[in-house]
Amino acid sequence: MSLKNSDQLKHKFEVNKMAKNKIEVTDACIACGACVAASNNKFELDGDRAKPVSAEVDDADLEDYKKGAEACPVSAIIIKGMN
Ligand code: SF4
Repeated sequence: MSLKNSDQLKHKFEVNKMAKNKIEVTDACIACGACVAASNNKFELDGDRAKPVSAEVDDADLEDYKKGAEACPVSAIIIKGMN
C-alpha cells in the first residue's frame, strides 16, 4: 500500500468514526428565532417554525446546536445521538 493510500484510509476512518447526531424541531416551535441567534445560524426560520440547516450533524458542530436548543423557550429542539 502506498503512503498516499494509507493517508486516504486514515482520513476515511477518522471521518467514519465521528459521531452523527440528528436534530429535530417539534410542533411546539413558536418561530421566535432565539435558536438562530444562539446557534451561530445553525437554525433558520422556515415559515412558522425553525429548522436545522442540516438534519444530521457531526460532533464538531454539535456545540452550536446545543446552544440553540438551550435558548429555546419551549424546548422544541431535540438532539439525538445516532451512534
Ligand atoms: S428557539 Fe425554539 S421556539 Fe424559537 S424558533 Fe427556535 S425552535 Fe422555535
